[in-house]
Amino acid sequence: MAAKEDFYTLLGVERNASDAEIKKSYRSKAMKYHPDRNADNPEAAEVKFKQIKEAYEVLSDPKKRAAYDQFGHAGVDPSMGGGRGGFSGAEGFGDVFGDVFGDIFGGGGGRQRSSGVQRGSDLRHSIEITLEEAVAGVEKKIRIPVLVVCTECSGSGAKKGSSPVICTTCHGHGQVRMQQGFFSIQQACPTCRGTGKQIKDPCGKCYGQGRVQDTKTLSAKIPAGVDTGDRIRLAGEGEAGERGGPSGDLYIDIQVKQHAIFTRDGANLYCEVPISFVTACLGDEIEVPTLDGKVLLKIPAETQTGKSFRLRGKGVKQVRGGPVGDLLCKVQVETPVNLTSEQKAIVEKLGEALTTSGKHHSPQESSWLDSIKNFFTT
Ligand SMILES: [Zn+2]
Ligand SMILES: [Zn+2]
Repeated sequence: MAAKEDFYTLLGVERNASDAEIKKSYRSKAMKYHPDRNADNPEAAEVKFKQIKEAYEVLSDPKKRAAYDQFGHAGVDPSMGGGRGGFSGAEGFGDVFGDVFGDIFGGGGGRQRSSGVQRGSDLRHSIEITLEEAVAGVEKKIRIPVLVVCTECSGSGAKKGSSPVICTTCHGHGQVRMQQGFFSIQQACPTCRGTGKQIKDPCGKCYGQGRVQDTKTLSAKIPAGVDTGDRIRLAGEGEAGERGGPSGDLYIDIQVKQHAIFTRDGANLYCEVPISFVTACLGDEIEVPTLDGKVLLKIPAETQTGKSFRLRGKGVKQVRGGPVGDLLCKVQVETPVNLTSEQKAIVEKLGEALTTSGKHHSPQESSWLDSIKNFFTT
């Protein structure tokens, strides 16, 4: 992925620009890169438009702007790395236009592309996966209720054997001019709702909509290393467009279930390992779980409770790349329970031996006693 351009440079404003300056500059740039005004190279204009849109999304939001000023792109980039090229949010291109032009031309006129068809809505769906699935990647079947293209009329909305005719109000332009005072305003044709076509004989299955409610089953590839809050886009799997318009996208929100043993923080995994009092005193090798089977962990003699041991490379390789993380095992020393009188006698004997040895055996306690002494003498 190429390095991202600075958001202030993209919008052509100073770093201390006011909200009004940012909005003004955004509007003029958005107009300039409108794909309909760049017929010679609409793809390049669309890319530029999305970059400007993303920059505006960040700089118009005080919180995001502060994060961006402090941390740069890393502070505000919710993208999945690669793939979507950093275009944030579950918005289709249609919504992008709605934002800029909606309040200029009034209402949904901005959503209409010059071709006169309307893109279907984007959909969101969340799925829960296990930590193992998140780490290794998984393919999941999902069932979603969705508007799909009507099979009866192939999405045209017109009864089989007939076809839509050119709208008599706008003569197929999809737009009409309205006089309002001094201004002449162009807006979507009310008769055909901007499509430029009228259906005289509607399809009986979809009532002229060109799409029907259905449930569709999809298989979604979840890449290895995803985490809760990540979002995957399935292009074209959202709602079908009206009367043959392009479909929206489907966004899948990832939710990773809590694991019985491990917790995850970024690339690292954490777990707690109980060890016996004897192991803690004398040291031993114990088996600890990792996501790919058990491994041996050496516990040195005189290990204190709460100490963490790092198993390098036994963590997670994150979806955005970077090195594989580590597994941190935090040991918990367990006090023995259900002691027999014989065992109790041995512990008592140990206690006596520890107090009369002349050495100190409790590192925490001696520093604690020192603190108390210091507290009373100062
Ligand atoms: Zn139909
Ligand atoms: Zn019309």
